Amino acid sequence: MKSFLIAGNWKMNMLREATRNLIDGINTGLEGLNLDNVQILICPTFTSLGLAQKLTNNSPLSLGAQNMHFEEKGAYTGEISPKMLIDSGCEYVILGHSERRQYFGEDNELLTKKIASAFVNNLIPVFCIGETLQERENNVTFKVLEYQLSLLSDFTTDELKTLVIAYEPIWAIGTGLTASEEQIYEVHSWIANYLQNKFGVTIKILYGGSLNEKNAKEILSTEFVSGGLIGGASLDAEKFLSIIQTAISIK
Ligand code: PEP
Repeated sequence: MKSFLIAGNWKMNMLREATRNLIDGINTGLEGLNLDNVQILICPTFTSLGLAQKLTNNSPLSLGAQNMHFEEKGAYTGEISPKMLIDSGCEYVILGHSERRQYFGEDNELLTKKIASAFVNNLIPVFCIGETLQERENNVTFKVLEYQLSLLSDFTTDELKTLVIAYEPIWAIGTGLTASEEQIYEVHSWIANYLQNKFGVTIKILYGGSLNEKNAKEILSTEFVSGGLIGGASLDAEKFLSIIQTAISIK
């Protein structure tokens, strides 16, 4: 049976009231569903984590953050540490999202420290990789992905077994464009082979990039796709639940 991780990246959206409504809506929709093959993760903003922790206490929803600093505490004004995420009920943390790479200059050196810190603190990193449109058109997609994945050689096999990869072609994020089934299969199978050959691990590889309730069946059914990292459609309980129900239906 295929098993899936369906993860919502809320980005910089949702005040506390909207957070309550969305989580209540998801919790209600999950009642009575058989989630044997589906894990669900939501990644709200930092200011909603405390509330989200309370609302997910007795629900199948796992909680994650969208970023963190690599240090556990100290003089880093404005930053949030892994210990603070754990204290707020997080099990996961998204690291290396293309928006953080693009707008906040996150690179392999910084991401190595962040992933190391996540492992030490027992947080599961959802490590995002992906190419720009220009890189795809210049036929350097696999070169770019190989470089982004190369930092994983700093970690042990046991650590890597807990990691989740999210392949997110940057040109498909928030644009309404999705990669075709062939493109997704080509990249996911390449990543799976790379991870197996280089590190001897088989781990979850999520697809992200305008995944929604309409294209979920085709994308999630694709071989080597073990879930989705979903931005826009995760902000709407009905759409997010529909994607979860699609995952449940794929055996
Ligand atoms: C994302 O933010 O990781 C993402 C995939 O966004 P969207 O689903 O809106 O393209």
